[in-house]
Amino acid sequence: MPLIMLVGVAARRPTERGGFILLFGSKRVMSNETGEAVDARCPRCGATGSLKGIRVRQWFTIFFCPLFPLGSGQRFTQCTKCNASFAMPPEQFAGAAAKADAVQTQRSITMYNSLRNSPANSVTLNELMQLYGSLGEYKQAVSAAADFPVALNNSEQCMVTLGRVYVSQNDYAAALQWFDAALARNPDLPEAQFYKAVAHLRGTPSDPAKAIAAARMARKAEWPGADDLISEAEAAAGNSNDEIRMTNQ
Ligand SMILES: [Zn+2]
Repeated sequence: MPLIMLVGVAARRPTERGGFILLFGSKRVMSNETGEAVDARCPRCGATGSLKGIRVRQWFTIFFCPLFPLGSGQRFTQCTKCNASFAMPPEQFAGAAAKADAVQTQRSITMYNSLRNSPANSVTLNELMQLYGSLGEYKQAVSAAADFPVALNNSEQCMVTLGRVYVSQNDYAAALQWFDAALARNPDLPEAQFYKAVAHLRGTPSDPAKAIAAARMARKAEWPGADDLISEAEAAAGNSNDEIRMTNQ
């Protein structure tokens, strides 16, 4: 919100007495900083290499035209992918993100060691895979599952998490295997139904009919997002029917 000051100044002219008004104020101007994108993950959308520095400066304005900047401004970091902005300059942001990653990596090592001592602990394996997933380390998550097969095969939750890891890697065939394995143990697992629908929809070839069926099961259990997924699958089903009709004509 620009701050406007109205200043009336009486002008003195030999023949007439008049007045004029000067509009002073200030305005916030945002500019992109030059420089490379920061090599850190966006905490909001998880994208890497999308964080850039921006500078917000207050400008002194006259008649709403910026004249000169007031101070050096405040520096932010913004994600070019999801547009989230963070009140920290990019270099500090990268440092903080690296520190957070280091803490998480240490946590994953601790969990790995604990699993070596009790390889049947499904709760820890599930947490470890989720942690790797949140760090974008999908290969590590898959190899953790392979290292502790007892923990994996005793837990439908571990199977679903592994399936989600495969979805993140766009390996929908492998993901579907694990969702089905989880559902064989527990047919009422809405998380498995939901992501099974995602895998059917995104896979090649896409199978909207199977996606709709699985998403409806997830909706019955009120899994968040199931409604939107059904709409998307129904739209995809409509499109593929049109294609079939067109090829038949
Ligand atoms: Zn982002």
